[in-house]
Amino acid sequence: MKHVTQIRQSVAISVVLIALLFILPLAVIVPFRSELFSGESPVDETEQAPFASGDLDAQTVLKVLDGDTVVEMDMGEYLVGVVRAEMPASFEEEALKAQAVAARTYTSYKILTGGNHGDTADICTDSTCCQAWIAEDRARSNWGEDADAFEQKIEAAVYETDGQTILYGGVPILAVFHSSSAGQTRQAGTVWLNDLPYLQPVTSPEDGAQIPNYYSRVSFTADAFREKVLAAHPEADLSGEMSGWLTNAVTDASGSVETVDVGGVTMKGSTLRGILGLRSACFDWEVQDGELVFFVTGFGHGVGMSQYGADQMARDGADYQEILTHYYTGVTVEPYRLTRTGS
Ligand SMILES: [Zn+2]
Repeated sequence: MKHVTQIRQSVAISVVLIALLFILPLAVIVPFRSELFSGESPVDETEQAPFASGDLDAQTVLKVLDGDTVVEMDMGEYLVGVVRAEMPASFEEEALKAQAVAARTYTSYKILTGGNHGDTADICTDSTCCQAWIAEDRARSNWGEDADAFEQKIEAAVYETDGQTILYGGVPILAVFHSSSAGQTRQAGTVWLNDLPYLQPVTSPEDGAQIPNYYSRVSFTADAFREKVLAAHPEADLSGEMSGWLTNAVTDASGSVETVDVGGVTMKGSTLRGILGLRSACFDWEVQDGELVFFVTGFGHGVGMSQYGADQMARDGADYQEILTHYYTGVTVEPYRLTRTGS
């Protein structure tokens, strides 16, 4: 009896094993059947493999404030969203890599120096506060039919620069960047309060003819100009002839205004740029038909890496390390392991 039972058990086990041989492959294939047999490429982005960060980027987990919500993601996932938002995805691969490294460095600098959000978050997605960031689905709808290619380029730029960080004296720098300069970048102290040794003026090779709105023109009526300036500087005297309102401009070699007297008040060109909403502080002006007309070159504060300049350098054969060491003076670009103090 005992022997028969053993045989029955063996037969039962064999039947189960043989059945599994047929069922298991089906269980693996069925979920992907539509992809394998439909003959169409999948359009739903959820079928796309999610981005996986490199080893160093995966080790840094960030709290990212997006609107009212704090989302946790690792450095690589975060950087892909920053590069999507901060640089045109049509740019050269080496320019996108330079952008990824600059954004990683800027983020590390913010974390090491305390950042803008205390214990709530490491960084936010508001470009006027920290750095712009957009999710994949929103980027894809902006990109349209180029979405797959653009997303792949950006993910590669982040993955292939895993952990690479711009260092000065072994420490991540304040890696600021701007859209386009007027042929030369600007010294930090002429734009903001303080100079930094690695934010010095350097030549920048962008070709204005290829850049949308590189040259812009803005005009103000007397009332409009007065209203804007007096809101910021009520002490300015804008009573006389319009042609005498702006005097004593000091410009750098590229024509960016370092300081200018506005109604007798000396201010930085970058300050007047902010008051008037000009695209950059590289501007000239004249009175035309009773209006004050500004002629502006480039876009952004002009400090650190120029994005269009980086793209031009890449077209001319530079790699991302050459681009970064050109725009940031005296730095090295190296893998860096971010360690938080006090945690
Ligand atoms: Zn912020």
